[in-house]
Amino acid sequence: MSSNGNKIELPASIVVRDLAQKIEKSPIDLIKKLMTNGVMATINQAVDYDTAAIVVAEYGFEAVPEVVEEEVKEEAGEVPLWRQMIAGEDKTHLKARPPVVTILGHVDHGKTSLLDAIRSTEVAAGEAGGITQHIGAYQIEMKGRLITFLDTPGHAAFTQMRARGAQGADIVVLVVAADDGVMPQTREAIAHAKAARVPILVALNKVDKPNANPDRVKQQLAELELVPDDWGGSTMVVPVSAKMKQGIDDLLEGILLVADSNDIKANPNGKVIGTVIEAELDKSKGVIATLLVQNGTLESGDVVVAGIAHGKLRAITDFKGKPVKKAGPSTPVAVMGLSDVPSAGDLFEVVESDKEARAIVGERQETLKSQAQSRKKLSLEDLFSKVQTGEAKELNLIVKADVQGSLDPINTELNKLGQGEIGLKVLHAETGNIGNNDVMLAAASKAIIVGFNVQADVDARRMAEKEGVDIRLYEIIYRMTEDIEKALMGMLEPDFVEKTLGKATVLQVFTASKFGRVAGCRVTEGELRRGAKVRLYRNSDIVYEGDLSSLRHEKEDVKEIRQGFECGVGFKNFSDIQPGDSLVCYVLE
Ligand code: GDP
Repeated sequence: MSSNGNKIELPASIVVRDLAQKIEKSPIDLIKKLMTNGVMATINQAVDYDTAAIVVAEYGFEAVPEVVEEEVKEEAGEVPLWRQMIAGEDKTHLKARPPVVTILGHVDHGKTSLLDAIRSTEVAAGEAGGITQHIGAYQIEMKGRLITFLDTPGHAAFTQMRARGAQGADIVVLVVAADDGVMPQTREAIAHAKAARVPILVALNKVDKPNANPDRVKQQLAELELVPDDWGGSTMVVPVSAKMKQGIDDLLEGILLVADSNDIKANPNGKVIGTVIEAELDKSKGVIATLLVQNGTLESGDVVVAGIAHGKLRAITDFKGKPVKKAGPSTPVAVMGLSDVPSAGDLFEVVESDKEARAIVGERQETLKSQAQSRKKLSLEDLFSKVQTGEAKELNLIVKADVQGSLDPINTELNKLGQGEIGLKVLHAETGNIGNNDVMLAAASKAIIVGFNVQADVDARRMAEKEGVDIRLYEIIYRMTEDIEKALMGMLEPDFVEKTLGKATVLQVFTASKFGRVAGCRVTEGELRRGAKVRLYRNSDIVYEGDLSSLRHEKEDVKEIRQGFECGVGFKNFSDIQPGDSLVCYVLE
C-alpha cells in the first residue's frame, strides 16, 4: 500500500483504524466523517472501497484501487511448480492449450462410465476401429478443440498428485448421480477441488433413471456453495446419462466454456516440464511412463528427469499407441527410455545432457535421504508459527466426527474461531473414522486432522506418520476448539499430545481410612496407571481432572491394572465420586 501525491491506493475493504492511519488522520475524526456520510462504523470495523473513497475524497485524496499481486504469486507455496513456471514465461509467448480434466465423484455415480462414454463417442468418431490403449489419459476433439482427460478416476490419484505438488488438472468434473445425490465422496471431491483451487463443473449423471431428482441434487450442491448457474450461481451443472450417452456434447462444451474463463495457457517453445501420470515396468519394453506435458514441447531423443528416474527418450507414442515425434502442452504421451519407474505425480523436465540428468538425480537422492531422517510432523504448533511468519495465512482443518449431530456444533464453533485475523478453513467435515483419503487430503493441503469421538484407521495412522500429518483426537468439543483457539493465538503449549491409556466405570464408592473416598471401578478398556492423568465424567460433564493418586487391586497397591479387572481408584484432592461415573486415564507425551 502506498500513496502517491494525493492519490491513495485502497483495498476492496479496509478497517477504519487502518484507513485513518493511511491518511494520517485521527480515527475519531474519520468516524465522524463517516457518520456525516451516513455510515456508522466503529474503529475496528471495515468499510468497503466505495465508502472509503468517498471519505478520503473529503480529505482531498483521490482513491485508486490497490493493485493486488497476481494470484499465482500470492499463493506461491501451494502453486505447482509447472504453474509457477508458466507464470514466469513471457506473456507474449503463451498460447492457449487444451484444458486437462479430471473426473471425481462418489463411488458408483458413473465416473468410469462417463469416461468411457466420452472416449467412445468422441475419440472413435471418424476412426476405424477406434482402438485406444490405456495410458491413464486421453484426448478428444470437440468443435475443433482438444480436451485432455485424465482417466484414472478417483480421489486417490488426484490427491496423490497434489500431495506431490503436481496437480495436473485444470478442471474437475464432479459426477453426481441424479438418483443418489451428494454423498460423502462427493463432498470429499469438492474439498479436494477447492483446496487445489481448480474450477468445478458438475455432471449430473444418470438422468435417464426414473427416480432421478435433479432439483434435489441442485439444492444439495447449492448448500455446498456450488450454486447452479440456472439458479443464478456460477457452477455449471450439465445433465448427462453416461449409460445412454446423452448430454456428452453439452458436457464437453461446458468444459470448453469453463476453460475459456480460466486462461489455460502455456509456452509451447518454453522449457519442457510436466507431470508423470502413471508408470510401470514392462517385462519386455522396460519402463513405460505416461507423461503429461504442461509446458514446452517434448521430443523423442530428449533427456528427461522424472523424480529420481532419468533417461533419453527412445520412443514416444500418443494415447492411441501411434508413434509421435513431438508432444506439446496438455498432451499425454507414453514414453520409453527411463532408468527407473517414476511415481505418479512426479514432476518431469527435459535437461541438456545425460550428465546433467545424473547430477540432478544424485542431488534429489541426497535430499530424499536427509528428508527421511528429519521428517517432522506438520503440527498445529508448526502451522501457527508459519501463520505468524506469513508463510501461511490460514489454518486448514479436516474435521471428522462420530455423528452429524456433533459435526454441526463443531462447525459452528470453528466458524466463530475463524473470524479473527488468521483464517480457519475447514477443507472437509464429515462423519466417520479417519481414513487414508483424509490423510492424503491433509498432506496435500498442509492441513491437520481433528477427530471427535472417532478413531484413525491403522492404515491412516501409518500414512499420517509417513506423510507427516498431525491427527488430533478429542472427546470433548470444547477441548478441540480450545486447542485450535490456542494455536490461533499462538499460545499452544509445546507439543503435549494426550494419549489415552484406558477407561473405567465407577461401580461403587467407598471410604478407605488411608485414602479417603475411593472409586471402586471396573476397567473397561486398556489399563489404568498410578500417577497418570485422569478425567472423571458424569454423563458427559467432566467433574474432575487431575492425577490418579492411588490404585489398588484386592487390597494390594498396584502400579497398573488392565481391562476386565476391578480396582480401587483414589483421586488427588477430590472425593465427590458417584457410582455410574466413568473415567479416562491418559498420559501427556
Ligand atoms: P464409478 O464407480 O463412479 O466409476 O461408477 P461406474 O461408472 O462404475 O458406474 C456405476 C454403475 O452405474 C454401473 O452399473 C453403471 O452401469 C451405472 N451407470 C453409470 N452411468 C449411468 C447412467 O447414466 N444411467 C444409468 N441408469 N446407470 C448408469
